[in-house]
Amino acid sequence: MSRRFCLGCGAEYDYALGACPACGEPTDGGAFDENLVRALAHPIPDIAANAARILGMRKPGMALEQLLHASRSGEPERAEAALEALCAYDDVRVDERLLEAQALGTARERAIAKDAIRRRKQGPPA
Ligand SMILES: [Zn+2]
Repeated sequence: MSRRFCLGCGAEYDYALGACPACGEPTDGGAFDENLVRALAHPIPDIAANAARILGMRKPGMALEQLLHASRSGEPERAEAALEALCAYDDVRVDERLLEAQALGTARERAIAKDAIRRRKQGPPA
């Protein structure tokens, strides 16, 4: 019996229910992740960057395209946070984006990409 906190409203409930009885948020956080993806395009880059960080922890597949898009933003804070979040994804499009960022990105983007590419070559810790 797993009781956890709702991502939508914070209520504690049994996650076997499938959705929060208080607010209706799906147990898998579907609406929560959709809101985070929307926030990637928020006009305030700091909000987008925070959304990207949370997506990087949660790794929902539906966020991948929008993270790739945000990682090409001309606003460094938005782009760098999206690039860092992408590092959590195991996907060939991320590999390609990291190589691109390593070659063409800002100094911070090049550092993120270089570190991620090195870790990907090493594979998971033994
Ligand atoms: Zn709720």
